[in-house]
Amino acid sequence: MVQYRNFRGINLKLKIKTTKRIELIDITSEVQQQVMRSKVSEGICVISTGHTTAGIIINENENGLKEDILNFLQKLVPTGAEYRHDRIDNNADAHLKAVLLGTSEILPISQGKLELGSWQSVFFAEMDGPRNRIVNLTVLGNIETKEKVQEE
Ligand code: ZN
Repeated sequence: MVQYRNFRGINLKLKIKTTKRIELIDITSEVQQQVMRSKVSEGICVISTGHTTAGIIINENENGLKEDILNFLQKLVPTGAEYRHDRIDNNADAHLKAVLLGTSEILPISQGKLELGSWQSVFFAEMDGPRNRIVNLTVLGNIETKEKVQEE
């Protein structure tokens, strides 16, 4: 077993400006950029959002599929279908869609890169835009170093 000395934990925020009521925004390159800047080579990256009408998902960035996902969500949870929350906030469908999507994803980091399948992208899923949004990144792991502690 090889243990590395240099464990690092970093929290940072990505600012996202959405432009439509519902849309999928590919944030893979921003997340990967922050992982590279963290210098973490082996570890995990938690991608989360604190909003109740948005989500984080991983899937393929293909225009037709992105439309299919949004149409699918709209079909499952139509806007204005006599929800109770609409009496006070008029966005119950956005909350319900966000419940289906979930608010975080965790990815392994290997050799400084997000462990994503070749067709996978990370998306911020806006369900009640346009708004200014925040994505939280937590990068945990060992930073690149040649220095090793004693092997056991
Ligand atoms: Zn609401």
